[in-house]
Amino acid sequence: MMTHWENLLAHSITTPEQLSRHFNSDFSALNPVVEQFPMRINPYYLGLIKTPGDPLWRQAVPDLLELNDSTCFVDPLDEENRSPVPNLVHTYPDRALFLVTGQCAMYCRFCTRKRKVGTSRMLASRENMQSAFAYLRKNKQIREVLISGGDPLLLSDEALIWLLDNLRAIPSLQIIRIGSRVPCTLPMRITTRLAAILKRYHPLYLNTHFNHPDEITPEASKACARLAGAGIPLGNQTVLLRGVNDNAATIARLMHGLLMIRVKPYYLFQADMTLGVNHFRTRVEAGLEIMQSLIGYTSGLAVPTFAVDAPGGGGKIPLLPDYRISLGRNLTFINYLGAPCSYHNELA
Ligand SMILES: *Cc1c(COP(=O)(O)O)cnc(C)c1O
Ligand code: SF4
Repeated sequence: MMTHWENLLAHSITTPEQLSRHFNSDFSALNPVVEQFPMRINPYYLGLIKTPGDPLWRQAVPDLLELNDSTCFVDPLDEENRSPVPNLVHTYPDRALFLVTGQCAMYCRFCTRKRKVGTSRMLASRENMQSAFAYLRKNKQIREVLISGGDPLLLSDEALIWLLDNLRAIPSLQIIRIGSRVPCTLPMRITTRLAAILKRYHPLYLNTHFNHPDEITPEASKACARLAGAGIPLGNQTVLLRGVNDNAATIARLMHGLLMIRVKPYYLFQADMTLGVNHFRTRVEAGLEIMQSLIGYTSGLAVPTFAVDAPGGGGKIPLLPDYRISLGRNLTFINYLGAPCSYHNELA
C-alpha cells in the first residue's frame, strides 16, 4: 500500500501537457526543455504556487531559457572528476559527499546536478553504495559523510535503514549529515516513523533547503518540529536566485521564518554556474549587499554564511562585506552602521 507521501509523489505533474491542463494555458513549447531536464512538481508544491511567474513557480516550472545558456558548465563543481568511486565526491580532507539517489520530490530548475537528477545518468545501485562504504571505511580521515542526491529522503524507510546501518558500522565516521529538500517540497515525507528511524543514528544533522518565505507553511513547520523533536539539529541552505529571492527583505523574512520553525540558517549560496541555470544567477555584489543588510541589524542566529562554490571544484569560499579600513598596529573598521571603530592590535 502506498503511503500518503508516495501517493502525492505519484500524482506529480511531469509533462508540459499536464501543466497546460492545470494552468489552462498552452505550455507545449516546453517539451524540448523537459526532454533535456526532467520536470516534477508534486501536488503539495503545486498548491503553493499562487500565480504563473511567482517565486515558487520559477523554482518549479521549466523555462525556455534553460536551453539558451552559452555561459555555464554541465558539471560546474567538477564533481564527476572528484569521485574516487561512483556516487562519492571527495573534495575536502575530512568529509565526503555521498549521492544516494537521483530522485527528488521536485526537480528544481536551478539544480547544480541538473545534468543528472531524475535521469538514468544518476543511478545509485547497491554495488555503487558498497564501493562507497568501502572507500569511507578505508579513508579514516573522513569523519563526516554528507548524504545527498537527489534527495535521500525519497528513499524508502527500509532503504534508509540499510544505508544508515552500513554507515554507522564504519567506526571512523563520526557525523552523519543529511541534505534534503523534502521538509520544504514534500513535508509529508517526514512521518513520525521516519523521525523515529533517524533518531537511532545520532549524531545526525539535517540541512534542508528553503529559498522563499512562502515555502514556510504549517506543513513544513510540522515536518521540522518532528525532526527537531527527534533531536536532529536542523540547518538550511538557500540559493540566491534572480527573480526568486534576490532582495534583502525577502531573505530577511526567510531567515526569520526559518528560525521560527527551529531551522538555523547555514549557507546562502551564490548560484552555481550550472548549464541551464544562467538566467537565475545574480551578481556577487547582490549577495554581499544582502549580507550587509542582515549583519548587525538582526540576530546573528538569522545570518547565514554567504559562499560561492568555486567553479572547477575549488570548494566553498565564504564572502563577507568588508568592514576593515586598515590593518596594522591599530586596526580601523566601520561597524554595521558605518561608524568608524578601532582596535589596538599590539600585545604588551
Ligand atoms: C558542500 C560540500 C561539502 C560540505 O561542505 P561544508 O562547508 O562542510 O558544508 C563537502 N563535500 C563537498 C563535495 C561539497 O560540495
Ligand atoms: S531537491 Fe536538491 S537535488 Fe533535487 S532538484 Fe532540487 S536542488 Fe536539485
